Amino acid sequence: MTERITALHGAGGEVMDQLLARLILPRFGGRPSGRISLLAGDDGATLDLPRDGEIVFTTDSHVVKPIFFPGGDIGRLAACGTINDLAVMGAKPYALSLAAVIEEGFAIDDLERILDSLAAVTEEVGVSVACGDTKVMPSGDLDGIILTTSGIGVARRAISDAGMIVGDRVLITGTIGDHGMALLAARNEFHLSTRLESDVAPLWPLLAPALDLPGVVHAMKDPTRGGLAAALNEMARKSGTCIQISESAIPVRSEVLGLSELLGISPFDVANEGKAILVVDPARSQEVLDALRRHPLGLAAAEIGFVDREYPGRVVFETGVGGRRFLDMPLGDPVPRIC
Ligand code: MG
Repeated sequence: MTERITALHGAGGEVMDQLLARLILPRFGGRPSGRISLLAGDDGATLDLPRDGEIVFTTDSHVVKPIFFPGGDIGRLAACGTINDLAVMGAKPYALSLAAVIEEGFAIDDLERILDSLAAVTEEVGVSVACGDTKVMPSGDLDGIILTTSGIGVARRAISDAGMIVGDRVLITGTIGDHGMALLAARNEFHLSTRLESDVAPLWPLLAPALDLPGVVHAMKDPTRGGLAAALNEMARKSGTCIQISESAIPVRSEVLGLSELLGISPFDVANEGKAILVVDPARSQEVLDALRRHPLGLAAAEIGFVDREYPGRVVFETGVGGRRFLDMPLGDPVPRIC
């Protein structure tokens, strides 16, 4: 019989302690964050952070539907979402918190799968899970599980998403639209069959070599909700510059293009969970591209445009046939519960 989460698993007593001892500590107890770590089960954890540099702190809640999707699950997403927000600020991730709100009746096997995915990412990146929280909601009050992760990282000097200057080149680390389109295809209502998988992946190992080139990366952002269109518009607005993009230079998988035409949703408006936009010194652009392409996640990295002053705060798309149009900020991601 399937073992399931009960109200007692979130009630702060013996049953919850047993759950943590069985599911959490074996997966996350091996990488202590500091003198008082997760293993201590104290009210908080201490962190041994490097003394030099700027501390970057971020948080993200994950409500993705379905919980298990092609290419990943909510556990992998919860680790990557927060690690990537640190990475695109130029920060090496050090520690995460993990808060789980679980629906009563949730299968413990599924919870273990989710935690295994999360642990695989923390191992790959070398980041501690320093503290956490578990709550259980009555069946029907919640759709399965919500995971909230906060993260702390340290950057030599944090990189903002508004640091670009006129003349800079715009790079993307790989194909666009994979996560959003894979999630859409995975939702039964569309009855679509495709081999497309989410790109959900931790970006720190890919980005670290580019950050080792001092002063070369001027701005970075991960194009998550709202996709490439939202991220580029936000960057242009905040920096008061114009971003000129060549549509044909953007790497897009043929499966993504096919689904996008079928569903009438632009691949540039949907979330990515394993991609970054880098805005770099034009003289060093090729060097950054070479560094990105040496990592498996960066094989399709490409230069897609440049920064100028033509329309401050706007993104201009040069279409394949020589036309030009504005790429507008989407009203919101067309896909709900995407991350
Ligand atoms: Mg972000």
